[in-house]
Amino acid sequence: MGKDAFIFIASSYHYIPPTNTIYELIDMGEFKKIKVPEEGEFIAFKDGDMEVPDKPIVAFIEGDGIGPEVVSAARIVADTAVEVAYGGSRKIVWWEIYAGKKAMEIYGVPLPEDTINAMKLAKVTLKGPLETPIASGYRSLNVALRQTLDLYSNIRPVKYIKGMVAPSRYADKIDFVIFRENTEDVYAGYEWKAGSDEARKIIEFLHREFGIELSLDTGIGLKPISESRTKRHVRRAIKYAIKNKRRVVTLMHKGNIMKYTEGAFMNWGYEVAIEEFRDYIVTEKELAEKYGGEVPEGKILVNDRVADNMFQQIITRPWDYDVIVTPNLNGDYISDAASALIGGIGVAPALNVGDLYAFAEPVHGTAPKYAGKNMANPTATILATAMLIEHLGWSEASNLIWKGVESAIESGKYTYDIARHIEGASYLGTREFAEAVCEAIKSLK
Ligand code: NAP
Repeated sequence: MGKDAFIFIASSYHYIPPTNTIYELIDMGEFKKIKVPEEGEFIAFKDGDMEVPDKPIVAFIEGDGIGPEVVSAARIVADTAVEVAYGGSRKIVWWEIYAGKKAMEIYGVPLPEDTINAMKLAKVTLKGPLETPIASGYRSLNVALRQTLDLYSNIRPVKYIKGMVAPSRYADKIDFVIFRENTEDVYAGYEWKAGSDEARKIIEFLHREFGIELSLDTGIGLKPISESRTKRHVRRAIKYAIKNKRRVVTLMHKGNIMKYTEGAFMNWGYEVAIEEFRDYIVTEKELAEKYGGEVPEGKILVNDRVADNMFQQIITRPWDYDVIVTPNLNGDYISDAASALIGGIGVAPALNVGDLYAFAEPVHGTAPKYAGKNMANPTATILATAMLIEHLGWSEASNLIWKGVESAIESGKYTYDIARHIEGASYLGTREFAEAVCEAIKSLK
């Protein structure tokens, strides 16, 4: 395939087949402002499975605000964990690519084609937080990235770390994994400003076709939720629950009010559970009807909760919840709230994953007031990197990172956001906290 073919692929954000041949397709010169690292190899796919070389090239985007500091801290910790786990036989080769303000400076646009193509080529990326203007300006780059790469599940573990000061008195019982759908719902980006031609046309159409009366100064947004996209997301969550021996999968929705979107999400979720995982699951209805309320040994309970109830349930009875599967907006809200219960979003990681590509990121944003001050907590990004490494199949290194973070925090190593809640506690800078985690990792081996 020649140069023209590549340009076609690069200029459309469409599917690139996940084979080794992509690498051959891409002439290094085709990237406008970045160069493929000389060391390392790209992750490939063979028969649908990811093949990870010993020196995989992993892309990273520093991001805006505190992004450069927390991403740099996370890379240091990741390198230490991989070195300690594999004694030099494996290594991540980091490849910097650009989005957000740095991309504006280099390319004049916040999300260049180079970046999307590099993320496809590398398959996995570590991404710092990116700023999104509120109520005007460009759409969220994070949302654009998740949609363009079809990263349909956003996986957010929320687990108490010993030593953290947490507002919940049941914090030590919190061990959730939230699966937030990433491509649909009100995040799909179909919005029209009040007074615009488009909004007026839709209002007129709704009036003409359905007799709906909306005032002409109404802003309009669409909330698409489809069967196929819901099912692939719930399928991933149940597979995760089976693989990781989790006890419960809860479908969180507001289906009593939004019947054909969130209510359908619940129905389709149960359909996947019953039709595809019959031997592994029992539903809450079946539990009452057939099993006297006791989950049979080895089965996963699949239940559902209305969103407002779910919020109070994670506060009052967190031990009843485990894997929580949500549409896009509910997932955004519940993951920040759940993280707050265990001590804040400074420690909450996420992995965005589809069938081909993935990127890891902290749940938090750019926290601009801490930017450049070496004060931000890098834990969320460090743990996101652990998720990325787990995704590569390097569980030993990933476990070392989780244990290293736990050990550092348990021994009283805090960043400012945690220390301020503990009387008399001193705090470390972002960089120094990462070094403390590295020391803890080295002492674990
Ligand atoms: P935010 O950046 O998450 O910060 C909100 C507050 O959370 C901070 O003021 C700080 O609380 C605390 N915080 C967050 N991360 C922290 C860390 N690593 N260490 C210590 N404290 C931390 O939320 P925001 O202010 O709403 O959003 C700022 C920008 O980030 C926006 O442009 C938003 O769109 C963007 N954003 C991006 C992503 C992403 O890239 N995935 C996600 C969310 C938001 P205190 O003030 O109490 O110290």
